[in-house]
Amino acid sequence: MKIVAATGNRHKLREFCELFPEHEILSAEEAGFSGEVEETGETFRENALIKARAVCKATGLPALADDSGLCVDALGGAPGVFSARYSGGGDAENRKLLLENLKGETNRRAHFRCCVALVFPDGTTAVAEGRTDGSILCGERGANGFGYDSLFFSDDLGMTFAEADEAQKNAVSHRGRALKKLRELL
Ligand code: IMP
Repeated sequence: MKIVAATGNRHKLREFCELFPEHEILSAEEAGFSGEVEETGETFRENALIKARAVCKATGLPALADDSGLCVDALGGAPGVFSARYSGGGDAENRKLLLENLKGETNRRAHFRCCVALVFPDGTTAVAEGRTDGSILCGERGANGFGYDSLFFSDDLGMTFAEADEAQKNAVSHRGRALKKLRELL
């Protein structure tokens, strides 16, 4: 099946391809979609559905979108759906702000959450969620991945997501778990 990945994030696109090897995953650009979809939802689920529906409608192909983020216990679940826009800058600024906001905090527990939505041109929709738990370090470790990976020490892996290779991360990640559930649903 040809599926359009409704994301401009090349890391996510690679993760989608690795986790869905039996399908041909096209980037939104390859499918002729160049627009930005505004994430106006209040939950990961709403945002994933908004993105998948918009790209499915524009391309006429099944569209796969994810919305994900980091939820930190001591910050009441923030940055959550605002993870990408936390500092108003890029990934490095977001990590810096997170460390500042957790300065002196002993409760470092956090989890990543991900909701994936697959929307077909006939309106059929499948949605699945995944979660992975860990804690936020006081400094960065590792050079792989993106976003908050170098600060997130995974309970499952015993290292940060940025120290793990892609296969290790995908085996336990929020996105990996959500996509595995989605595949079971299909
Ligand atoms: P989205 O593109 O709206 O889903 O934003 C997700 C944001 O959450 C990203 O920009 C990252 O800041 C963070 N995030 C989500 N998944 C991951 C991950 O696997 N590793 C590190 N950061 C992530």
